[in-house]
Amino acid sequence: MGKVTSLPGRNCVYYSFGRCKYEEYLNPGYQSSWQCRVLAFLEKDYDGLISKADAFDLSFDQVEKIWEKRFAGIGSWADLCGSYLPAGSEDDRCACLFGNACVLMMPECTGVCRLYRPRVQKDIES
Ligand code: SF4
Ligand code: SF4
Repeated sequence: MGKVTSLPGRNCVYYSFGRCKYEEYLNPGYQSSWQCRVLAFLEKDYDGLISKADAFDLSFDQVEKIWEKRFAGIGSWADLCGSYLPAGSEDDRCACLFGNACVLMMPECTGVCRLYRPRVQKDIES
């Protein structure tokens, strides 16, 4: 008897770039290792700034100004991640972003499974 293979899951609402978003959809942010590396970098940098602001008793306005300057000097998404894929010509966020997580870090879709939900329209945005 021939080997049984699953049908491709491409038409599943949880499918994106060959990966399965089901777990992230169920528990957003639970897998911290899936966080987008660009957002993780910015978050760490911003947290560092907030700690300094506390230590030096800076006002909210001062912090905002420092962050704006710093943010302008950080560079683009592409500078911070080699896998970055622009979402669109007018949208510089990454197409692989799902919430704060990176789809490319999620498990591979192994084909149609018991969680498969056919895509009627694009009801789960990447
Ligand atoms: S590929 Fe995109 S979503 Fe993934 S880490 Fe890079 S910038 Fe973030
Ligand atoms: S078919 Fe199954 S493994 Fe593939 S994306 Fe859908 S739920 Fe995930």
